[in-house]
Amino acid sequence: MTKYIFVTGGVTSSLGKGIISASLAKLLQARGYRVTIQKFDPYINIDPGTLNPYEHGECYVTEDGAETDLDLGHYERFLNVPTSQANNITTGRIYQNVINKEREGAYLGKTVQVIPHITDEIKRNMCILGESGNYDIVITELGGTVGDIESLPYVEAVRQLRWELGQHNSLVIHLTLVPYLAAAGELKTKPTQHSVKLLLEYGVQPDILVCRTEHHLSADIRKKVALFCNVERNAVIESIDASTIYDVPLLMRKENLDGIVLKKLKLASKGEPDLESWKDFLGRLKNPTAEVKIGLVGKYVELPDAYKSINEAFIHAGAKNECKVRVKCIHSESITAENVKEKLAGLDGVLVAPGFGSRGIEGKIDAIKYIRENQIPFFGICLGMQCSVIEFGRNVLGLKDAHSTEMNPDTKNAVISMMEEQKKIKNKGGTMRLGSYACEIKKGTKAASIYGKTKIAERHRHRYEFNNAFLNQYEKAGLIASGINPENNLVEIVELKDHPYFVAVQFHPELKSTVDNPHPLFVNFVAAALAHSHKK
Ligand code: GLN
Repeated sequence: MTKYIFVTGGVTSSLGKGIISASLAKLLQARGYRVTIQKFDPYINIDPGTLNPYEHGECYVTEDGAETDLDLGHYERFLNVPTSQANNITTGRIYQNVINKEREGAYLGKTVQVIPHITDEIKRNMCILGESGNYDIVITELGGTVGDIESLPYVEAVRQLRWELGQHNSLVIHLTLVPYLAAAGELKTKPTQHSVKLLLEYGVQPDILVCRTEHHLSADIRKKVALFCNVERNAVIESIDASTIYDVPLLMRKENLDGIVLKKLKLASKGEPDLESWKDFLGRLKNPTAEVKIGLVGKYVELPDAYKSINEAFIHAGAKNECKVRVKCIHSESITAENVKEKLAGLDGVLVAPGFGSRGIEGKIDAIKYIRENQIPFFGICLGMQCSVIEFGRNVLGLKDAHSTEMNPDTKNAVISMMEEQKKIKNKGGTMRLGSYACEIKKGTKAASIYGKTKIAERHRHRYEFNNAFLNQYEKAGLIASGINPENNLVEIVELKDHPYFVAVQFHPELKSTVDNPHPLFVNFVAAALAHSHKK
């Protein structure tokens, strides 16, 4: 029977429930259990695809094309197992399902209510992955903070499910904050006590408390928290601030979080977790022998979460190259033809980021022109690739008004244009070209040497594409399409012949980079940047 672990948060948001969940899952996986993590988000959007990155950080896309919360990225990066739509459910989706059923007549004669109909639908969704038979343990992360009005039906669903699942088949981990009051020189447990009291009011007794803290918890503090929150003393787990999120599984191991979980769920310990490859990665991450400086040109640079997967992919690729990657964010709106040299000074490579709409687009194009002409390693992703095509069109092919119809619907030289299948779509939510598609790489190209194979599949999130009417013209001038979708001839990868490293992709390789499997496009780009820095 599948066992269920629920992770709730208290006191404040942003305590890192996603990292704690992923770290615990890693430890259980390293002991030989099949584990998955799912996230329930209490907002009313059907998915985060329609949210601005400023609101919610990056939108993470799964193999099956679901637009999901960025925590799913952590789950995949830690576990190296793909997630799917079933791993991320929002209140919007729950209500949509219930309302659709109501219209179908599934509840004929009944008043449809939060309890039982919404909570039943939440419970049904919480058990879908567990019932697939693919997992021994399902970890469910509840978004938001206990006490939020919108989280209430989820906490109630957990209360009911625990009762239905029976003893030893589920447990609740509550993540709280133990703040340090500098003036008093003390760690304070009261917020944790209040947060647990609130959970108790809703009928949920947490089994394990994970306490975020800036200072070590003394034995006295642990005892106090245990006594006032009804948990065992060894179930008060310290989660001290770490220098990298990749340290957290080892910190949780030290606190024996996985051991306590297995004991409470009456599961065999299966011996010490095998964390050799994880430790090897950490060793390389923490002992770099070189350093490169990469510019990340985008328009959401104020918020680090907006480019989460890109930043993490650089960490994986840096460790692989035993090289510290310093990512310098550069606002594309601040770049002009006049200041580009100074803006990109000292960089060993530049990545032009994905994005939507016309804001900041000319800065990206100016940056690419400079990079192309000055032989600086370049990596373009999605809109970044489209910008490289526009730049080449304007400045090499002499198509002065070359543009994407996303920014200029009337351009005569629509080198990037809307995909045919997109033209009839009116709704904005979940209607882009999403998820994994096959790509065939041309032999003898840089892309082929990067991947070491010619058949790949990568994840997508876009509406516009390279306009194949221009392909001949581009290839004759030296920009070649080295990756093509075999079914519809969509250009997936472009590269420059006469440039040390100029590779741009229509898909999102950052979504598939994990600790165990750093993405070859990032690994090779960092290596190219390293070579460039040696040349300098
Ligand atoms: N806005 C572009 C498109 O829709 C690029 C999307 C992206 O960068 N994810 O095609």
